[in-house]
Amino acid sequence: HFGFEDGLSEAEKTERVAGVFHSVAESYDKMNDLMSFGWHRIWKDHFVSSLNPGLSPHNPPTPQNILDVAGGTGDIAFRMLHHAHQVNANPDVSVTISDINTSMLAVGKQRSLSLPASQQAVLSFQPADATVLPESFKPNSFDLYTVAFGIRNFSNIPQALREAYRVLKPGGVFACLEFSKVGNPLLNAVYKRWSFSGIPLVGQLVTGDRDSYQYLVESIERFPTQEEFRDMIVDAGFVVGGDGYENLTGGVAAIHKGMKP
Ligand code: SAM
Repeated sequence: HFGFEDGLSEAEKTERVAGVFHSVAESYDKMNDLMSFGWHRIWKDHFVSSLNPGLSPHNPPTPQNILDVAGGTGDIAFRMLHHAHQVNANPDVSVTISDINTSMLAVGKQRSLSLPASQQAVLSFQPADATVLPESFKPNSFDLYTVAFGIRNFSNIPQALREAYRVLKPGGVFACLEFSKVGNPLLNAVYKRWSFSGIPLVGQLVTGDRDSYQYLVESIERFPTQEEFRDMIVDAGFVVGGDGYENLTGGVAAIHKGMKP
């Protein structure tokens, strides 16, 4: 066990997380399928269609500028480009994949080579720490900020939310897909058993790296509840609709959204 919260500075936490993802980058995509029984694909598809990237009432369609933070190997960014091009026939949607980890970005770049040329042309990669986004990400410059299965790893979540707020345009949307809390006690018991025993074991068998997967499970456990996280989003200045979140698979994952007024 990494003892993540045991007196580590933010810089040390960030460094540990970097270590975890450097060691899992190559096996990351395969492990996602194994750990979630393929569910992560369904959640990601749902997340992206709920955001409907590229939707525009105008002809020609309005350009959109999207930032996918902790974008890793590109799962969300690639889905958004596909959706914008195929569903909304809007080729004028640019997506920046940013991630603190260059190993994850390198795998993403390699994967992006199999995208259609029109999608590769509007995709860019930018190493960045979500809690201190680079100067090149100007205030009020993005229409949509996405973060999927990334925010629980950030050393300072309120600061990352403030950065999201800063770079979004007024009317721009913050959208997060993250593991969350399961309400049903029976489902929760099954889920806990799988995550605390199954996932580290599969990590050990497939990658020889039990500790990284143990860390991932513990970071899910420490992440706030749906309501607590929604309140953090509101505290950062965002406006939320309804409950401010949507549970997926009984709360195994949840989508949170907020709009910058
Ligand atoms: N969004 C991708 C997906 O859904 O497949 C990748 C998710 S992966 C579980 C989490 C990612 O968060 C890793 O690529 C990791 O490098 C990144 N990450 C962790 N801490 C970060 C930080 N402070 N700033 C930016 N990215 C970070």
